[in-house]
Parts: sequence; C-alpha cells; structure tokens
Amino acid sequence: MSSMSRRGFVQVAALAPLAVKSLSLGQKAIPADHFDIVVAGAGHNSLITAAYLAKAGYRCLVLDGRPKVGGGVKTAEFTLRGFKHDTCSSSHSGLYDNPLLRDDELGLREYGLEYIDPDPIIHMPFADGSYLTQWRDLDRTCAEFAKFSKRDAAMYRRMYADYESVKHIFQAVAFSPVGFGKPLNDRLAEHSKGKFWQRRLAMSQWEIIRDNFEDDHCRAFMLTSPWANQPAQNPMTGRLAYASCNQLTTGRPLPKGGSGKLAEALARLIEAHGGVILTNKPVVRLIVENGKCTGVECADGSSFRGEKAVLSTIHIKHLVDMAPREMWGQDFVDGVESWQADCQVFVTNYAVTEPPQFSVAGGTLSPVHASLLAGPERALRFAFDYAIGAANIENPPLHVICCSVADPTRAPAGMHTLKLLGYQPYDLKEGPHHWDEIKEQVSEANLKYFRQFSPNLTDDKILAKVVESPLDIERQNPHNWHGAVHAGSQGPAQSGALRPMPGWAQHRMPIPGLYQTGATTHPGGSVTGAPGRNAAMVMLKDFGTSIEEVVKTSRK
Ligand SMILES: Cc1cc2nc3c(=O)[nH]c(=O)nc-3n(C[C@H](O)[C@H](O)[C@H](O)COP(=O)(O)OP(=O)(O)OC[C@H]3O[C@@H](n4cnc5c(N)ncnc54)[C@H](O)[C@@H]3O)c2cc1C
Repeated sequence: MSSMSRRGFVQVAALAPLAVKSLSLGQKAIPADHFDIVVAGAGHNSLITAAYLAKAGYRCLVLDGRPKVGGGVKTAEFTLRGFKHDTCSSSHSGLYDNPLLRDDELGLREYGLEYIDPDPIIHMPFADGSYLTQWRDLDRTCAEFAKFSKRDAAMYRRMYADYESVKHIFQAVAFSPVGFGKPLNDRLAEHSKGKFWQRRLAMSQWEIIRDNFEDDHCRAFMLTSPWANQPAQNPMTGRLAYASCNQLTTGRPLPKGGSGKLAEALARLIEAHGGVILTNKPVVRLIVENGKCTGVECADGSSFRGEKAVLSTIHIKHLVDMAPREMWGQDFVDGVESWQADCQVFVTNYAVTEPPQFSVAGGTLSPVHASLLAGPERALRFAFDYAIGAANIENPPLHVICCSVADPTRAPAGMHTLKLLGYQPYDLKEGPHHWDEIKEQVSEANLKYFRQFSPNLTDDKILAKVVESPLDIERQNPHNWHGAVHAGSQGPAQSGALRPMPGWAQHRMPIPGLYQTGATTHPGGSVTGAPGRNAAMVMLKDFGTSIEEVVKTSRK
C-alpha cells in the first residue's frame, strides 16, 4: 500500500484502502526529522488544515492518540457487527457553507465523500399528539407552523427572509481567521438592516422567541437545537433564535456510510499528497529548541520533528502542560485557567430491528432526526440543572437520530442504528465519577420518555445498546474536555477574538512555530471545518503563499 516516493519519504497511493493503521518507526523507515509539518491530533479540522498544506506541497505527518482518525467525526461498529454508528457527530450542516465543500476547493469528493440530504429535516412530536415537521420546502414548513398559529407561520417566514439577507455576513466571519477582514459589527454596520441585527445578536434567544411567537408548540420548535449550545435565556444568544431558519437552507446532511467518511476522505487526500498518518500516538510533550516549537514527543517515547511548524488540535487545557509554563506567558495561562466547558451530552446508541415511528395524520413518520422538548419551560430549566449539577430525567429533552432511514448502508438489511442524545451536566454535585453509577438509570429514563412518542420500539426490537455519559465522552476523546461537545462553551467570553483567549485567536500560539486549530479556536465546535480552513489560511500566509494560490494550483 505504501511506497517510497522520489522525495524519499513514505507515500501512500491515491485511493488506496484507508492507510490509517498504526505505523512505528521500527516498522517503516520514516526519518524522524523528515516532515515539514507535524500535526498533533487528527480531528476533521486538523485534517482539513493538513489537506490544504499537503496540497501546497508540504510534507505532513499527522499523529492521533486513538486507533482511528476523525475525533468527533468517526463511525464504528460498536454495538453489533454491521451496525455503523457515528461515535459523535452525524449531521454536517456547518460544513456545507465551507468553501472546502461548497466550492470543492480540494476535490475532496474524489476521495469517497458523498452526502445525503434527508427530508424532512426534523420532526417534533408533542405530548398532546400534535407535531411540527420541518421540511426542506419553506411553504410546507410554514404550513406546519400554521396548524398552531397563522401569525407564527408568518413570523417564521419573515425570520427566514431576515436571516437569509445577512447569512453571507455570518459565513464570511466564520470562514475568516480573526483579524482577516472586517469584524462582524463593522460588516453589519454596512448592511441596510445592520442596526436591527446588532440589537438581535445582543438579545437572548428566548427573548426573541417569546416576543415573536405566540404558541408554545412553535416556541418549543424554535428552541430545538440551540439548547445544546447555550442556555436560551443567556444574553447574546439571539442568533440561535434563527438556527432553524439557517437549517432550512442547509438541511442536516449525512455522509453516506457514516460521519467518519469525511475523516477518511481527508486522510486519503493527505496520503495521496505525500502525507503520513500514524494512529495510537498520544502526544505528551512539545519539543522546544532555541525558543521554537520544532516537534512533538509521544507517550511511547517516539519523537517527530516538523521543519516548518507544529500544528496542534490538543485541548488547550492539556497543551499548556506540554511545555514549560514560562514559555506560554501569563495571559495565555490565565486564559486556559478561566476556560469553561459547558454543553455536555448523554448518548445511548442502539442496534434496532425497526426505525422509530411517530404518529402523524394518516399514518406514521420515520424521520432521520426528531426532537423531543416538552415545552419552552423545559428548555429554560436546562440552565438551572447545569448550574446546580443535577441530572434531570424528568421529561428529558432528547434528540433522536436514525441515519439508516436515509442511508441503508449503515445497518444490515432491514435493520437500523438509533441514537438518543440528551443533555446532562458533566459536573454532578457528587462529582463526575458519579456518572458511572447512574448512567444506566438515566439511559432507561430517556428510553421510557422516548417511547411515549415512538411506542413501536419495544424491548424485543432492541438488539444491543451502548451508553455514554458526559464522562465517557471525555474518556473517548481528550479534546472533549469535561465532556464538552464543542471543546468548551461558545458564549461571548469564549468567542471570536476571545477564542481560545484574547491575543491568541489567530491560530498562532505564544511559542513560535506552534499553531492551534480545532474547536478551541474560532469559530468553535461542530462539524464546520472552519477552524481547520482558517488555520490553513494563517499558516500558508506565514509561509509566504495563500489559500487562494493553493486552490488555484490544485485546480490546474
Ligand atoms: C455525542 C456528540 C454528538 C455530536 N453531534 C454533532 C453533530 O451531529 N453535528 C455537529 O456539527 N457536531 C456534533 N458534535 C460536535 C462535533 O463532533 C465536534 O465539535 C467536532 O468533531 C470537533 O472537531 P475538531 O476537529 O475540533 O476536534 P475532534 O473531533 O475533537 O478531534 C480532536 C482529535 O485530537 C486527538 N487528540 C487529542 N489530544 C491528543 C493528544 N494529546 N495526542 C494525540 N491526539 C490527540 C483526538 O483523539 C481527536 O482525534 C457532536 C459531539 C458529540 C460528543
């Protein structure tokens, strides 16, 4: 599968079966100091950075501590053979806006990446037997709101139009490194409705929804996805009130074959351009020589040098311990110490013999995505439970994901994968380790609540399950520090020029030669690839070229 290239380093043939198995220096004669860039951690963001750098001709070595690349973008058969579960993310909505995919900048689709766009986008059943379904069609979705309130339907249409008119501004900010181009407020100031948006962004999500929607079903629907990000009543969460409007255009795309197909395609692209990927290589130390970061050392004692740079996606809480404190500077250390986790999830994955069936007029509906939220009050209660460290199993807000409905390759014929994702704090009053004692009970409570809406999934339909508490989510990937699905809170204190901390938001770290990408950097977590592409922009600029140049050359 691998061969020695003319340039004298290990090269993996394009479109070869995925070469992400662990190699060691003993097995392959890779000179330890023969790479331009060493990448520590192989989440989708750092793989994207490495893909642009490899396209630019830099020799990249990517190291990951786990047996498989991808981090939160991974698929595995961990319940039963043939059932392909996404270990974390399933929907890649944010990536659709990334020029990497939108403009196919690197020809990624040639490496086995294909997306499915489920319709309906999401279905929300209510305890009173009613439901609201979001379809890819605006009129059809507005008709769903109109079942509850014609006024709310008109408001949804108006909010959708308002959001569409400024969406390009949010995208431009997300897909630019901090300091590259104008900041959000300046861009909004140039827009005809800029003042309206400046106020909206400063408001809370709840204020906007409460003031503009009269019916509680519609309000609950408008609160669906955002509770995973920040409490709806927090100031400066106003943009989340528009999350479902944004979702109407992007949908909730799924990679065919599993979320991990994205990471696999990126790995193939990197290998096809001379890169090497080694797994089971936890990085434990940064090598700093003459004040410059020149490489990394792994837990097994192996070390690797990058002649030009080291790129990390190691969580900043761990990174800071990998070089002497004085090298970071006090501002950086203070920024790390005050970093907040927030937003933790609780997941049970099932192998099942049939998909969830929700009652709708004239029969049942089996969507890929469904959302359960008892009402607006339950969403507001969420912040309180987190604050007091309580695992609340009363009417638990749940996200129900059954990818195999739209993608039969995920399970044996006629069978399905099912994920029930709830929201629970990592820091329980009794301490995070208490999760090991109560996780089965919480999982059962989630299943019981879910069955009120989808009674067909009785015990005989469940073949196997795997439960993961917020503590388990941290155990599977150290980048999910304290179980945080986005590596840390995405509130105003950790956003934009403050992510990961003031003064260090441009992917360049205080130690020369060291760059940072991933969810701890702007614009944060989720599968957007924005931190990855933005880091590539900064690094390429520092190397005397540009992302535009690389894309232009790669298209020739
Ligand atoms: C249960 C769950 C469901 C989710 N669902 C969605 C969803 O549907 N849609 C969505 O957009 N987002 C979702 N997310 C969030 C999303 O998965 C993450 O925000 C995203 O994957 C972060 O990507 P990343 O590239 O920044 O880092 P990660 O994916 O976290 O990758 C970091 C990598 O670095 C490696 N690493 C860390 N430390 C070291 C070290 N010291 N040495 C070597 N390697 C190291 C890790 O092994 C990992 O491979 C979900 C998250 C969870 C937990």
